[in-house]
Amino acid sequence: MPQRPNIALRDLRTRLPALQAFITERGGEVLSPTNDFEVLRFRAQGGVHVVSRQASGHITYGGDSALAVQCWLAHLPWRGSDSHRGQAGKRLRSLNVRTLLERDGDACFLCGQALGDDITEEHLVPVTHGGPDHIANKVLAHAACNKRMGHLSVMEKIRLRDQELRAAC
Ligand SMILES: [Zn+2]
Repeated sequence: MPQRPNIALRDLRTRLPALQAFITERGGEVLSPTNDFEVLRFRAQGGVHVVSRQASGHITYGGDSALAVQCWLAHLPWRGSDSHRGQAGKRLRSLNVRTLLERDGDACFLCGQALGDDITEEHLVPVTHGGPDHIANKVLAHAACNKRMGHLSVMEKIRLRDQELRAAC
């Protein structure tokens, strides 16, 4: 979670045009507030994020709005557009992949061969079946092996893997 941006409501309001420009220039879309408590509403990275004020004068940050405001204040890179999702995903994936390589070593979950550059992440329990999008539910596999595991259940994957590894011996 990003830290809470260090800006008072009054300053945020005064500098709102600059923040809106920051968002727009980076591919986000500034939307009209839907009620008086919304200070800023914008669409970015496929979601709508809202900064609002409470009656007490405090600011609440919905969605990923805190991150955007934080990046704006700190002059950090921030992406508001889905068209860059591939790049962001790649960065995220390489971090996951690095962690998984450390945990499991350079071997395909299914065939046990070295992965090399042919690395994909496989969810043991598919996300469509309620599996978490978390590293604990992930293994690395060759793209082709990943595809072969396709929609198998965890038990079927492990069975297939046992067959593969036995055949390789
Ligand atoms: Zn493989």
